[in-house]
Amino acid sequence: MKILLHTCCGPCTVGTLKELDRNVHEITAYWYNPNIHPYLEYSSRLDSLKKLAESINMPTIIEDDYGLKKFVKMVAEDISNRCGKCYEDRIYQTARKAKELGFEAFSTTLLVSPYQQHNRIKQMAERIAEEIGIPFYYVDPRPHFREGNNEAREKGLYMQKYCGCVFSEEDRYRKYRKAS
Ligand code: SF4
Repeated sequence: MKILLHTCCGPCTVGTLKELDRNVHEITAYWYNPNIHPYLEYSSRLDSLKKLAESINMPTIIEDDYGLKKFVKMVAEDISNRCGKCYEDRIYQTARKAKELGFEAFSTTLLVSPYQQHNRIKQMAERIAEEIGIPFYYVDPRPHFREGNNEAREKGLYMQKYCGCVFSEEDRYRKYRKAS
């Protein structure tokens, strides 16, 4: 099946591809992540995905548009519940792009992380798939998360320390400061 795979970063892509087999499916990675801040972090994650894609010869489509302003406008009214909007924006964009480019289905590497809201992402993607008129290809690669991260580290890929947005960066390092 020809699948457009929304990719949030290199390490999560490594783990997801252990479940979404490239010997069975024709996978194209799709970078669209206006939720990653600040700019140097965004660049590091994007460069890491490019490095991975080149090393495994995987086609990629990149929306290289640092989206801090767009993202902040999108979540400003309800910052503590921002993740729903963040998932929805990225999944909508992926579904629309997949449909526009004639893919048979879409999926997302967000499904690999035990730190993300897996069931919420799945239900949202199913709803959006129906709305846009393109199948969502569901997989549960969570059992491969650690293995994927270890392999990404061995490959020298950039390993992020927080989810992506400036708010998650604060959450991450406040906890770290308290713990130390
Ligand atoms: S914490 Fe992660 S999923 Fe939630 S809004 Fe920030 S980047 Fe998006």
